[in-house]
Amino acid sequence: MSIEPADLVPVRVGPMSAEAYSELLHRAERDRIDLSLARQLLQGAARRAQADQLFAAASRRRDRALGREITLVAHLHMVTPCEVEPSCRYCSLSSSIPSVRSERSLLPPGTLLRAVRFAVGRGVRAIVLIGGTNLRGSDEEIRGIVRSVRRVSAIDLALDVGPSLAPETLGWLKDQGVRTIYSALETTNAREFRRAKPGDDLDARIALDAHVDRLGMALGNVLMTGLGTSVDLLRSILFLKRYPSLTYLYFSTFHPVRGTPWAQRRPGSLRLSLRALAIARLVLPAVHLGLAEVEVEDPGSAARLAAQLAAGAGNTFAALLVYPHRTIDNVDAIRREALAAGFTLAGESPPASPPARSGPALPATG
Ligand code: SF4
Repeated sequence: MSIEPADLVPVRVGPMSAEAYSELLHRAERDRIDLSLARQLLQGAARRAQADQLFAAASRRRDRALGREITLVAHLHMVTPCEVEPSCRYCSLSSSIPSVRSERSLLPPGTLLRAVRFAVGRGVRAIVLIGGTNLRGSDEEIRGIVRSVRRVSAIDLALDVGPSLAPETLGWLKDQGVRTIYSALETTNAREFRRAKPGDDLDARIALDAHVDRLGMALGNVLMTGLGTSVDLLRSILFLKRYPSLTYLYFSTFHPVRGTPWAQRRPGSLRLSLRALAIARLVLPAVHLGLAEVEVEDPGSAARLAAQLAAGAGNTFAALLVYPHRTIDNVDAIRREALAAGFTLAGESPPASPPARSGPALPATG
């Protein structure tokens, strides 16, 4: 099933007073948010003062739906190679520069297991195993990886390997205690998807979302600001409402990477990502929302906690990012910021200190 843009009724929203925007937010609380209302919310928040009203409403909604307890997780990149051909135009793998491409090279099996032990030692509550996409399936490879991880830890696991999993593998993963499967759509605009990801398959990603939903596993998704228009972004958020199992939704902001076909393209707007996130909170109150931490393609993205929290994000954040050549450990920094903002940390009384010296060592922190 492909998603093609439907005709749109133009919505023109001029500068809006604080009172008028308040009324719009009341409507968003009261009524079902459709595309027209979502557009009015977004356009009305063009001004800073109205954006602050939107963010405050989204934050209140988060507090009511999820509370103020933050869960820290680790992202381990890349557990499987990406076989998509050609590589996505924004991805480091499509760079002509070998050192850029190598940022997304494969995590050797020994490093992967050391990273799992390291993450557990740092007190994260879950690990997301992130790999490339193989449209012909990476089922055996994934089963082998999950078996080896399970030999060292029973930690909550998530998999983010695109549509590389057969339905029977999903059932097997569920039995292994893999709670969450990500199937990032990036955008539901099929034309924009093809432009950005000519070797990938939007229909296969949507089919995986539906399988995960049917199995009752937790579903994770990622949308990218900068693919298509802001209306495409809103439409994508509304599309995801159909999945009751949607548990995690993150917004990445397109950032041009050296040597890639999109190296000269205009970056996506972080402002738009934050406003879209806040609107997503009103549409999907109990879903864990945030900005995607994709340090390789978007440096600094792992350090935007305060802005996210203020916009209604929460309550699961990647605090530890492991790549083959570097480890970004923000556990202590995020913990400090979260506590300062009046949040608590899931499962803590936490050792905020670094792991014991005898703990597993990883490549240098970047
Ligand atoms: S599917 Fe993911 S890892 Fe593969 S080329 Fe595209 S963005 Fe990169």
